[in-house]
Amino acid sequence: MTPHNLKDWTRARLRDWFSEHNERPFRADQVFTWLYQKNVSDWDGMSNLAKSTRQLLIDNFHLPRLTRVAERVSQDDSRKYLLGLQDGKTIETVLMPHHDHHTVCVSSQVGCAMGCSFCVTGKMGLIRNLSAGEIVEQVVEARRDATGLPLRNIVFMGMGEPFHNYDQVMTALEILTDEYGFNFSQRRVTVSTSGLVPQIRRFGQERVKANLAISLNGSSDTVRGRLMPVNKRYNLAQLVQVCQEFPLEARKRITFEYILLKGITDSIDDAKSLIRLLHGVKFKINLIPFNAAPDSEYQRSDWEQIQRFQRYLLDRGVVATLRISKGQDIQGACGQLRSEQGLAVEEEVG
Ligand code: SAH
Ligand code: SF4
Repeated sequence: MTPHNLKDWTRARLRDWFSEHNERPFRADQVFTWLYQKNVSDWDGMSNLAKSTRQLLIDNFHLPRLTRVAERVSQDDSRKYLLGLQDGKTIETVLMPHHDHHTVCVSSQVGCAMGCSFCVTGKMGLIRNLSAGEIVEQVVEARRDATGLPLRNIVFMGMGEPFHNYDQVMTALEILTDEYGFNFSQRRVTVSTSGLVPQIRRFGQERVKANLAISLNGSSDTVRGRLMPVNKRYNLAQLVQVCQEFPLEARKRITFEYILLKGITDSIDDAKSLIRLLHGVKFKINLIPFNAAPDSEYQRSDWEQIQRFQRYLLDRGVVATLRISKGQDIQGACGQLRSEQGLAVEEEVG
């Protein structure tokens, strides 16, 4: 029998499994604490488990790790990792320091099928989904470097469309927020989607209440349809409706990410229609100045225009933040994640 990857399993599933194997379910709690709180990566380190229990685990599970293929450190201390999966494919993960904590940006797929025209990951196409364990392990890896400041926030804004890999992402969320697992606060985990309407609806019914972010990037179907093919499947009216109906906890809002592309999304008319469009939704806007890739057809908006756009929203009572992308010098910023075996291995650190 092929052993299971233990990192793919939730604690509830492991508790059931222990029961079926005539072991006490709380062994699962102990295993989770070793793996995710004490950072133990082998069975021998799990010293409060009986030898027979450990043997049972050895016979049935493996504990694969991701390999660090390359790592780059930005001038702002962000770190981008190229991590190797068991089948030799690679993904990228970014660790970002903030004033009192770290944030990790994780990937949910190798590549992405959504094909947004401004996004480097989109150009790769979808290679495969990640398993829950491969998502969770990115956090384990990044946490090793999150010294000084605690690793407190997770954003699913790396490679891939999380809602295109829905079940594995939900399993990963459960492990990451489990009190015996990483114990991340649900308020500090954000899942970003390009706008898959049925999955957004389903996400609203999940037990784990992570934050929802939606990549809007255009305020009319014409512009958004040109930038994001998904808009042809689920147009803005459908997207806005599911957001209006989305069950939000008190004081929570949906975040709309909005890329500022020179001459395409950054006019005051665009800002106006953005406000009109989101009427009836509890939202905030995260403005993202476009990070240009070498062969991109788009340009970043001028700084004055970025500020004018933000000011227009703020003056009308809209919560609008500006995302100053971290790690731009190492191509670790939004939309710059592309795993290629050739990633400057000469710049490899550690
Ligand atoms: N696939 C998901 C999550 C990953 S993309 C999604 O699209 O929401 C994370 C964010 O990066 C998205 O909001 C996307 O709009 C933004 N992004 C992609 N390419 C970018 C680029 N070149 N410059 C700035 N932001 C970009
Ligand atoms: Fe995929 Fe998000 Fe990039 Fe679109 S922006 S191609 S959904 S990763």
